[in-house]
Amino acid sequence: MNTRTKSLFAAHALLPEGWRTDVLLEWDATGTLVAVTPDKRDAPAGVARAAGPVIPGMPNLHSHAFQRAMAGLTEYRANPTDSFWSWRELMYRFAARIMPETLGAIARWLYVEMLKAGYTSVCEFHYVHHAEDGTRHANPAELAQRVVDAASETGIGMTMLPVLYQFSGFGEEPPRDDQRRFVNTTEGYLDLLAALRHARPEHGALRYGVAPHSLRAVSEASLRVVIEALNDISPDAPVHIHIAEQTAEVDASLAALGARPVQWLLDRFDVNARWCLVHATHIDASETAALAKSGAIAGLCLTTEANLGDGIFPANEYLDAGGAFGIGSDSHVGVDWRAELRLLEYGQRLSRRQRNVLASHETAQVADRLFRDALEGGACATGRAVGALMPGARADWIVLDADHPNLAEQTSATWLSSVVFCEHGESPVRDVFVGGECVIRERRHRDEARHYRDYRAALARLFAGA
Ligand code: ZN
Repeated sequence: MNTRTKSLFAAHALLPEGWRTDVLLEWDATGTLVAVTPDKRDAPAGVARAAGPVIPGMPNLHSHAFQRAMAGLTEYRANPTDSFWSWRELMYRFAARIMPETLGAIARWLYVEMLKAGYTSVCEFHYVHHAEDGTRHANPAELAQRVVDAASETGIGMTMLPVLYQFSGFGEEPPRDDQRRFVNTTEGYLDLLAALRHARPEHGALRYGVAPHSLRAVSEASLRVVIEALNDISPDAPVHIHIAEQTAEVDASLAALGARPVQWLLDRFDVNARWCLVHATHIDASETAALAKSGAIAGLCLTTEANLGDGIFPANEYLDAGGAFGIGSDSHVGVDWRAELRLLEYGQRLSRRQRNVLASHETAQVADRLFRDALEGGACATGRAVGALMPGARADWIVLDADHPNLAEQTSATWLSSVVFCEHGESPVRDVFVGGECVIRERRHRDEARHYRDYRAALARLFAGA
């Protein structure tokens, strides 16, 4: 064995082909798996043993880090027709108070929470770019860089997606005053991305992509310029966009562009697996089939979509058509992939009055099917080699607590079902490894106390200014 190779022995591990026993995981100094060998009857001498069953870490494909600090603060009725749009007013007021150091502290704590939940990668859809009055910072990427640094300090893998935001509505409506911190010219945006890539170059745990905010916030021309510029950097770098979260957005798209947003995008751009369409909530039958066929990833953020009253994604039809999806915690009203997968199925159960709707012919266990699909789609959306325990992938995994009441005395056939659908007491996520580093040990992050202290101080500053 190469002396720089590290290893872990797992009595049970979930490999791409399914659960295997006596698995030796070996990875190199860069944090990449070099060998995954099942049926190794005995742990080689000196190799550490995983404390429980090992499953791949889950990618979180959609995050707005600063929104973590406002979770729980908008759950009151401000007017009789509260909706996403009234929530957005409150969120904008909150965004206006975010400072660089505040953002860094919030993001660090959020990523600790993600890691504790077993999210090992995050795609950050980052749109607060400028100072409170809209002026650019001396370093145009000042705020994005704080978020990138938060990922590396806490140990989570990151795909940073700086957001291009230019208009307040379809038809190139000028941005509002309270959107000025988000707005860039196309040229200014590309400068920001270049500054960021220069200051924090890509490595195994960091990749860049672009996030045109939505079809309401960019023009067709600027979308083309940004994608072409990204192609010059890397033709497979990810492109994420908010697409059809609200029915009002679909109506406005029909009025302004003559087509529903997903259809319009599919008709004009080469939408493929590098694309992640976040909140493809409102799609008709032909968009559902076409989106599934495109290979793009539907970015589903179930707890946020439920919290904001967005609507229910046609998951059954989309999965039947072979569509790919991943999950995100988005506004961070909850940070738990188990809850996202549970709610994905429960939305279908409640609306159809059936059970086990999202099982497939091949996989009768709903949780196994959703976990595997969310890993695969989520990994694709990160543009990074994650989401599977196999050579060439990042050494990212979760060690489950086999003594947890929901796993005890069961077999691997039902572990994921219990992990996803049962919610009793402490989390079954015991240890978490990212890039081969154990960042969560016995449910604690290595720097948890410090990051929590900084987060509280940031909250105190934010709330004092409220
Ligand atoms: Zn979002």
